[in-house]
Amino acid sequence: ATPAATMVGTSIGAQNGVLFKGGDVLERVRDVDTVVFDKTGTLTTGEMQLTDVAVVGGGAVADGGTAPEGGRLEPEVDESVVLAAAASAERGSEHPLAEAIVAGARERDLEPAEPEAFENVPGQGVRATTDRGEVLVGNRRLLESNDVDPAPATETMERLESEGKTAMLVAVDGDLVGVVATADTVKESAKAAVSALHERDLRVHMITGDNERTAEAVAEQVGIRPENVRAEVLPEDKADAIEAIQADGERAMMVGDGVNDAPALAAAFVGCAIGSGTDVAIEAADVTLMRSDPQDVLKAIRVSEGTLAKIK
Ligand code: ADP
Ligand code: MG
Repeated sequence: ATPAATMVGTSIGAQNGVLFKGGDVLERVRDVDTVVFDKTGTLTTGEMQLTDVAVVGGGAVADGGTAPEGGRLEPEVDESVVLAAAASAERGSEHPLAEAIVAGARERDLEPAEPEAFENVPGQGVRATTDRGEVLVGNRRLLESNDVDPAPATETMERLESEGKTAMLVAVDGDLVGVVATADTVKESAKAAVSALHERDLRVHMITGDNERTAEAVAEQVGIRPENVRAEVLPEDKADAIEAIQADGERAMMVGDGVNDAPALAAAFVGCAIGSGTDVAIEAADVTLMRSDPQDVLKAIRVSEGTLAKIK
C-alpha cells in the first residue's frame, strides 16, 4: 500500500476502535485465511459465576452405601466444606476462576480465610496451605501430578463439562473431596462473528486451556467446528498450537486477551489483542481491538481490504 493509503486505513481503523501497529500490518490482515480465537474473555465474557458445588467420595459411604473406587469414609464432608476449602486456597490467586469461587463462597456466607502458603500452577490450578489443610483446586492434571486420583469424580466432572462449565477438582490433605464448577457467558456477538468469518471462507479455530468437553460445548454454541478446537493447551504451549494450525502455510490471526496469550499472539501471522487486553497482550499484538467485541475482527479485515482497494 502507498503511505497515503496506509494512513487512511490506519485512521479509518482508529475511528472504528481498531488499532493497527504500522502499515505492513494492514496488508498482512488482508492475507489472513484463518482466525483463531482464545475462548475465555474473547468468545466469552470472562465473568465467571460459581454454579455448582458437589461432594465426591465420601457421600456414598455416609449414606451406608459402598465407597466408589478411591472413595473414602468421610461422612463429615458436605458441600460447604468443599467450597470453604476451595475458596480459602483460591484467595491467593487472581485468576478469574479463583475470583468466582471466592465470590461464590462469600455469597453463601462462607468467609474464606487467607491461605498460609500458596502456589499457582499455571494452566492447572492452585496448591495452598489453609486452615482446612493442604488444599488442591484445579484440573485432572493438577491432581494426578500430586498423586491424587481424580477418577471418583469422573461422572460429576463430565456432566458439568458437557454443560459448558469449567469443573475443578478439590482435594484436602491428599484426598479428593469434591468438585466446584463455574460458568462463563458466551458473548452475544460471538456467534455472528464466527458465521460472518465463515461466510468469507475463513477458517475459524478455538484454543483454550479449558478441558475438551467444556471447549466443545462452547464451540458448538458459537458455531466453531469440533475438529477446529484445541483444548487443554498449557499457557507455554499456546504458541506451538498456533504453529501447528499454520503448519501448511495457513496465515492465522490469533485473537486473545490474556497474559497467557502473548506468545501465541507473537507466533501468529497476525496477533490481535481484544478489549481490556492486558498490557503484555497489547504489546505482543499487531492489532488491538479497543472494544471487547469479536465482531470487530471483521472490521479489521474490512479496513485492510478497503485500504488495498484504494491503491488499485
Ligand atoms: P484459559 O486458557 O481458559 O485462560 P488457563 O490456562 O488459565 O485457561 O487454565 C486452564 C485450566 O487450569 C482451567 O480450565 C482450570 O481447570 C485450571 N486452572 C487454572 N487456574 C486455576 C485456578 N486458579 N483454580 C482452579 N483451576 C485453575
Ligand atoms: Mg485465558
